[in-house]
Amino acid sequence: MNSDPQESSCIFCRIAQGELPTELVWQDEEMVAFRDVQPQAPVHVLIVPRKHYATLAHLEDDTVAGRLVSAAKKVAEKMKIGQYRLVINTGPEAGQSVFHLHLHLLAGRTMGWPPG
Ligand code: 5GP
Ligand code: ZN
Repeated sequence: MNSDPQESSCIFCRIAQGELPTELVWQDEEMVAFRDVQPQAPVHVLIVPRKHYATLAHLEDDTVAGRLVSAAKKVAEKMKIGQYRLVINTGPEAGQSVFHLHLHLLAGRTMGWPPG
């Protein structure tokens, strides 16, 4: 169920399908990238597989994870960002609030460590 191609109630499926008007900063056949509605840094982009996976733990093989990171690299290159942080929150305790796999690309300020 969690790897259904689309879930009608899922906000990121709806964005990937063009049902919710959202400017895409980058896309290919498998992924879309768009700005976070509540940015946590001057640059805050979400990279999202078009296919629905609830979390990273729901991936059936390693291919999508690799492509997700490669997509983030391409987004950074396109946006001419040389320094950035990538985050995948997995599960509520880790801070996941949207249960459609996504990678956060954060940049444009000095990042603290450890993260909150
Ligand atoms: P999570 O907390 O699951 O790791 O990240 C979900 C992110 O999605 C949050 O940073 C939140 O601001 C963002 N978000 C939630 N709903 C929308 C939306 O409708 N549009 C956009 N662009 N971002 C969203
Ligand atoms: Zn979805």
